[in-house]
Amino acid sequence: MTGKQKFVLSRIILTAVSFVAIIIYAASREINLLIFLIPYLIIGYDVLWDAVSNIFRGHFFDEKFLMSVATIGAIALGEYPEALAVMLFYQTGELFMDIAVNKSRRSIDSLMDIYPEYAVVVRSGKELRCEPGEVAVGEEIIVRPGERIALDGRVIGGTSSVDTSALTGESVPRDVAEGDRVFSGSVNLSGVLRIEVSAEYGDSIVSRILELVESAAEKKAKTENFITRFARVYTPIVVASAVILALIPSLITGMWSDWIHRALMFLVVSCPCALVISVPLSFFGGIGAASKRGILIKGSVYLEQLAKTDVVVFDKTGTLTYGSFDVIEISSKIDKDQLLCLAATAEYGSNHPVARSIRRVYKKQLVAPKNVEEFPGKGVISDGVACGNASLMEHLGIKVDEVVATGTVVYVARDGKYLGHIIVADRVKDNSQEAVEGLHLLGIFTVMLTGDNMAAARAVSDVLGIDEVHSDLLPDTKVAKLEEIEEEVGSEATVCYVGDGINDAPVLATAEVGISMGGMGSDAAIEASDIVLMDDDPAKVAEAIYLSRRTLSIAKQNITLALVVKGIVLLLGALGVPGVGMWAAVFADVGVSVLAVLNAMRCMRLPKNLTAPTEE
Ligand code: ADP
Ligand code: MG
Repeated sequence: MTGKQKFVLSRIILTAVSFVAIIIYAASREINLLIFLIPYLIIGYDVLWDAVSNIFRGHFFDEKFLMSVATIGAIALGEYPEALAVMLFYQTGELFMDIAVNKSRRSIDSLMDIYPEYAVVVRSGKELRCEPGEVAVGEEIIVRPGERIALDGRVIGGTSSVDTSALTGESVPRDVAEGDRVFSGSVNLSGVLRIEVSAEYGDSIVSRILELVESAAEKKAKTENFITRFARVYTPIVVASAVILALIPSLITGMWSDWIHRALMFLVVSCPCALVISVPLSFFGGIGAASKRGILIKGSVYLEQLAKTDVVVFDKTGTLTYGSFDVIEISSKIDKDQLLCLAATAEYGSNHPVARSIRRVYKKQLVAPKNVEEFPGKGVISDGVACGNASLMEHLGIKVDEVVATGTVVYVARDGKYLGHIIVADRVKDNSQEAVEGLHLLGIFTVMLTGDNMAAARAVSDVLGIDEVHSDLLPDTKVAKLEEIEEEVGSEATVCYVGDGINDAPVLATAEVGISMGGMGSDAAIEASDIVLMDDDPAKVAEAIYLSRRTLSIAKQNITLALVVKGIVLLLGALGVPGVGMWAAVFADVGVSVLAVLNAMRCMRLPKNLTAPTEE
């Protein structure tokens, strides 16, 4: 408990004790206003003060205003105990909620506890401890066991295992050795690591994650905005109704105090605080739970859209497959090694997984080509050597051999003459099967889009059981295809696109919800997407959808609960049912708020079993 909370608690106890004492005392004697006024002010002075100062700031009709008017009204009617009780319950409920909200914020903050505090950099042979922001690219840092890696880089000495759970949600430590990439925010567990820094602190994974999470709060869900607007309209309406309720029946019946009393009760119940607090808290909790699992959601608006997902569209290379190709066949009219050399040289500057794989297989030193032109989704042409798929060859008007293979065929031609081809094959990710099955369990239709040929596409989709496949697409036709699917699905449901950001950043950006792989690499993907899967695990898509559905259903439960309970109390109170007075009203208000907050806190919990999730 904070000091402020303790202070409120002591006021509550003091007031509760005096309340009981006064009631006992009052049983045998007349009491006067003053005896009630002292505990009333002890418990309620800040509420009254805030209500007045809010009015001066132009905020009418907030909950403090409602409570003040209701209790002052009760005092005016001579209902002293009731006024005191309402204030007492209200403060107790507020305290309770404050504690609950603080607790959930803290547990989410602790998720984000990935700030490296310092870096140990080696400068002219000496170790120097400094701020991570002061280390430049190319410098060497030393990370000892138990320390957090401060900057992204590559291991240049030592072996160790690192805990990446803060970034990816993956609890099994990853072994690293010389040459491996490591990321800021992970914790070095066993050996001493020497790391060559590859990105400045501001561009490191840690900074990007924190930026994402911090800006997430600004992109509010429709449900959240609805609640804010609702509260703004709803409270004045209730206040107006209360005035009418106090005036009209009284004028007719002449029973002024009875009807004013009912109207005051109206004011107490009308407090929208259960919704105003619990709905954003649900979304906050949902985003927090997801980030604990390495799923970064850039705003609650995406969480809300995700919950309505009907179709998930996957990219193939790098998303469902590792994007790390092995050369399985070389067929050539010239020397095979020479063909490989031509291809590797042509691919010198390309970032495409196919290009990287060919360079990896060739191994030998390469000379950079002078003229390079890359055709996304097709291949490259450099210094007269064309290297790419059938569509590139067609574009150049080069006749090639008909090749039937389950792999990706890379044709090589020089100066318009076909020289041969290299067949490369990718491996399906270990979790892709689980990804597709998980989505099917959630009742979601799966589609795969790829720039690769149909045979290579089929080889993947048949293994995984994907419902629909489209092959031979270019980046722009991928966008068109996705829009076609969105059209078919309609505006009520969401189509998610999951890609790795290579050749599909435009698709990620246009998709209703773009989910990117390559949280560990491609900047373009992180920028263009709405959700980032930190560990490139496609199975996290189903998990994210499950979490979003749970969050939405909890938020809806709270809205329903609050409206139904308040509606009932309002109705009973307005009808003058005996026993339903201001006490019941404040119970309804505070009780519902507390229940709603407790319910919202469930959003933060991680589900144990994801295999049978639907609506809660
Ligand atoms: P996917 O949609 O499966 O992720 P891409 O759109 O990235 O695939 O690429 C589609 C196809 O274009 C690849 O399968 C490959 O045949 C060809 N391609 C793209 N870039 C290159 C390149 N640099 N070298 C050779 N082939 C390429
Ligand atoms: Mg791709």
